[in-house]
Order: sequence, then structure tokens, then C-alpha cells
Amino acid sequence: MAASPTRDNFQLVVILLFGLIAVLAIVPFAVYRVMSGDLLAAVVDMGILACIIGGVLYAWRGGNVAYAGLAVMLTSTTGGLVVAKMFGLAGLFWMGPILLANFLLVQRRWALAIAVAAIAIILIEGSAFASALEAWMFAATASVTILFAAVFASRTESQRIRLEALAAHDTLTGAKNRLAMEAALRGAVAGRREVDEPCGLAILDLDHFKRINDRHGHEAGDRVLSRFVAIVMSRIRRGDSLFRYGGEEFVLLVPGVDAGALQRVAENVRSAVEQEFSSEHPPVTVSIGATIREPDDDWQSWLGRADAAMYRAKREGRNRVCIAGPGEQRPVKAAPSGKAPAPEDAALS
Ligand code: GH3
Ligand code: MG
Ligand code: MG
Repeated sequence: MAASPTRDNFQLVVILLFGLIAVLAIVPFAVYRVMSGDLLAAVVDMGILACIIGGVLYAWRGGNVAYAGLAVMLTSTTGGLVVAKMFGLAGLFWMGPILLANFLLVQRRWALAIAVAAIAIILIEGSAFASALEAWMFAATASVTILFAAVFASRTESQRIRLEALAAHDTLTGAKNRLAMEAALRGAVAGRREVDEPCGLAILDLDHFKRINDRHGHEAGDRVLSRFVAIVMSRIRRGDSLFRYGGEEFVLLVPGVDAGALQRVAENVRSAVEQEFSSEHPPVTVSIGATIREPDDDWQSWLGRADAAMYRAKREGRNRVCIAGPGEQRPVKAAPSGKAPAPEDAALS
């Protein structure tokens, strides 16, 4: 099923919503202007609406959402200024919602700058006000409105960043989670078409982890998982990513490396884990299977090959790194008659 373009894009949703509200708010006024013979006002209304809809369609068809937000903001704010000029104090009522919406459409600093500029233009031009008191009251209420909008936008932004981080990370270890892994692997496979650089992938599975839980308890096992992640993180580059695949299995994405470099990274991680936990009873070690992305890989086949290499590392005695060649598959045991073949897991426990 094709993904909806609005699913992961809050900014696009805001722009679409703004377009819809603009249609609902402006069309009745344009109709009223036509019926009352004020064609100039109707043309202004429809011009503003056409520009806003243009920005919305551009964003909807995959255009740069940030540019679309800026264009829609500039159009609606300019429209608000024109309406204020044409209709005086009554026209100014539009500026409140427009300036508030700007904080949803664009980054806070842009919304703030445009709001200050718009308020300054209205005050300097001055024709909307019958007295200095009216101008001051407008300046005060508009300033308080944008101040609250800026505070609210700032809080919303920081909460959104925290929520996004929470949704992408495993709470126990701080590694990225499986959802983030699938997105990153999909991105790495798609990115191959744009950037022709090699990319490595490794599966890391702690050896005999069940024994650690059995001997020292689940909480001790949890602490080992956290320490393991800290060790791996200290051995990888900024552009590499570590994901918790599930349980005591992790995936490491290493962009920009060939098979030799991938082997060195994996070996470095393996020996660091061995060293760090050498005094534990039982000592904690890790088996690593790694592979380079091939031209015809999708993310599942790529991951499957790394998995096959990791299982080979287990079979060959654990606490080692195996690199998979292009055709490597996880071996399948001959099944008893009538049963589907099963991966060679039984030999590993
Ligand atoms: P192998 O070397 O073949 O990988 O053996 P293993 O014992 O590591 O593998 P197995 O799949 O038999 O057991 C994995 C264990 O990991 C079993 C499960 O209780 C434990 N485990 C999975 N998730 C967690 C977790 O979040 N915390 C703790 N403490 N243990 C976990
Ligand atoms: Mg294991
Ligand atoms: Mg496992």
C-alpha cells in the first residue's frame, strides 16, 4: 500500500489545513463582495486565495514543504495587509489569525520576524486607526498575541523533538529502535540510486545471553545490554547508527565502508566487548555477521545476508566476526517429512 504523503509530515498537514480554512474563510467574503458589487475586493480575495492554493498544491505534489510554508505565509500576510488597507480597523481583524497561523506554517524566527514587520507596517502606514489610542491598543494586543504564539510554538517544538526521539529509541539501552532501523535501511537502499558509495550492515548478537539472565537475574542482564550499547557507541563514527533489533540482537549501519573496513569496524567492536566484560562470570562476548549492500539488494535481503553471516559466526564457535559474500543465505536444516524446513537454530542453543 502506498504511504500517505501526510503520514509523517506534520508541516504538510498544517499547510493543507491552512489551505482548507482559507477556502472556507475567504470564499464567502468573495461571494458577498461580488453580490454587493465590490468587484475589486472580490478580485483581491480570490487573488489571495489562488496564491494560497498554489502553495498548498506545490507542497501536496511533493514540493519543498518549507518553501511552500514560507510562500503561503508571505501570501496570507500580504493579503492581510491589503485587506487592512482597504477596510481599515475591520480588515485588521484578519491579522490576528494570520499571524498566529504563521507560527505553525514556518520556523518560529521567520514567523516572529514577519509578525514584527507586519505590525510595524500597519502602525507606520496608520490609515486603519482613527486615533493614536487605537494604534497603541492594536500594537499592544498584537504584540501580546505574537509573544504567546512564540512561547507556545517553542514549547510545542521542544515537545515534538522529545516525542520523535522517544519514538525512535529503545528506552532500556538508548540505541535506536526497530522502527527507526527499518526506515534507515530503506533509506540506505533507496539512497544507493543517488549516491554510489558502499554501505555496510552488521548484526550483533550477544553470546549465551540467556545464561547471564539465568545466573544473575534479568536486571543484571538489562545492565549488560546497556553497557554493551555504550561500548559499541564508543567504537563507531558519528555517521554510523546502532539499532536494537530485538532482545539481545542489534544492527549496526556503517555507511561509506567497503568489506575490509566493515570487517575492521566489526572486529574492533567485538574485541572491545570481549575486553570490557572479560572479568564477568560468565564472560560476555558477541557474534557479528556483516555484509556490504549489493546492487540488487532490498533491505530485507541485505539484512538476511548479515543474519546468515551472524549464524555462521555462532556455528564456528561464537565471539567472532563473519563477513557474508553476495550469495550467502542462512542455511536451512533438512526437515522431518511433512514439516517445513527450519533455519539451523537448534544447533546454536
Ligand atoms: P546465542 O549465543 O545462541 O545467541 O544464545 P543466547 O542465549 O544469547 O540466545 P537465546 O535466543 O537462546 O536467548 C536470548 C535471551 O535474551 C533470552 C531472553 O530472556 C534474553 N533477553 C531478551 N531481551 C532481553 C532484555 O531486554 N533484558 C534481558 N535481561 N534479557 C533479555
Ligand atoms: Mg544471543
Ligand atoms: Mg538472539
